[in-house]
Amino acid sequence: MQIKAPRGTYDILPPDTGKWQHVEAILKETAENFGYREIRTPIFEHTELFERGVGTSTDIVTKEMYTFRDKSSRSLTLRPENTASCARALIEHSIYSGILPAKWYYIGPMFRYDRPQTGRYRQFHQFGVEAFGSNNPYLDAEVIILLVEVLKRLGLNDYELHINSVACPRCREVYRKKLVEHIAPVKDKLCSDCQTRYEQNPLRVLDCKEDACHRAIAGYPTLFEHLCHDCARHYATVKEALKASHIVFQHDDNLVRGLDYYTNTAFEIHIPGIGAQSAVGGGGRYNGLVAECGGPDLPGIGFAMGIERLLLAVDTLAGGEANESKTDVFISIMNDAYEQQALELLTRLRLAGIRAEKDYMGRSGRAQMKYADKLGARLAIIIGEEEIAKGFYTLRDMRGKEQAKIGGQDIINSVKHRLATA
Ligand code: AMP
Repeated sequence: MQIKAPRGTYDILPPDTGKWQHVEAILKETAENFGYREIRTPIFEHTELFERGVGTSTDIVTKEMYTFRDKSSRSLTLRPENTASCARALIEHSIYSGILPAKWYYIGPMFRYDRPQTGRYRQFHQFGVEAFGSNNPYLDAEVIILLVEVLKRLGLNDYELHINSVACPRCREVYRKKLVEHIAPVKDKLCSDCQTRYEQNPLRVLDCKEDACHRAIAGYPTLFEHLCHDCARHYATVKEALKASHIVFQHDDNLVRGLDYYTNTAFEIHIPGIGAQSAVGGGGRYNGLVAECGGPDLPGIGFAMGIERLLLAVDTLAGGEANESKTDVFISIMNDAYEQQALELLTRLRLAGIRAEKDYMGRSGRAQMKYADKLGARLAIIIGEEEIAKGFYTLRDMRGKEQAKIGGQDIINSVKHRLATA
């Protein structure tokens, strides 16, 4: 048996879990401030949901899904992203006929069979938001402002926000034909992935990472030049709203989401300085998605951020603030005979909301004090022969080392008072 987590997966151990809790608390608080409420969907779904909801020509569906058959031969897939699941939940629970927009956020693991490297894993975590039911461009702006606000609250002020409009299916179809005409003569110069993209989904040639492909298609017509009146107005309003909110962004002709149900606003946010995987989040409008998943024609917009990359950025650029839980009080016993008294006091302290700890390894008195220091305890309560005989506790300040004798009735209040004033 191999004692190693599967490739592309890893454990999160204390004290690192404290960092995760800190980041997750900020993500949740920001989303709630913006009026988004939490949704939790299953880790696996019917494979078909992702084929329809992510798109059969995408890398995710063609190469990266963890798909398996259960004992009843159903094809199931570990979720590679969460937007399709949210659309499924919206339809299944008829949320679309309730109060709109439905504004949701989620935090949880996603699974993609990708080549692991720093910032890229096979099980990774995303924070995302989805707003269903409105095509108002100010909602697009709200979602982007939320994305930026998350970074600000994490102390990440150095980011690059790219935005584009991927149009509506009608004006995009006109554009697609022009793009195909432009690429056709240079098709053979494209990388093998782009040759396939050219056949299946030519817009995706634009976001290829290979320089050679970009050189080959230089001078290509842009989507921006082909927006219909409504799409152009929608995009202009989003940009004005962002400017008015002092959000710095740049228009990016190469940013495309080449699926029919992605519409209008698309955006991506990068943090330079965290390595090759600098994209921390991306999203856009998907007005055709709910219908594609079998629901009514309901618009939607959202984004997803990679939490591993946020943590990497916080660690390398913002000083890696941790939220490590420290012990408040350590109970030290001078003799095994006082285990029961220590346990009872421990419970009283904990029920009063105080983080209390004792030794379980048979350490000597001195070793218990060293251990208390390691745990970060601010106070120690010593139970020895004299304390038991006379019915008091010795309360020690771990920093100043001064000690006081405290009666059994007063110990909880004394500890609370000292913690509050220390
Ligand atoms: P996507 O769902 O592909 O638009 O990705 C949204 C965000 O999730 C990206 O910007 C990354 O921050 C993060 N992400 C995507 N794939 C991975 C992965 N394999 N490992 C870690 N983070 C990822």
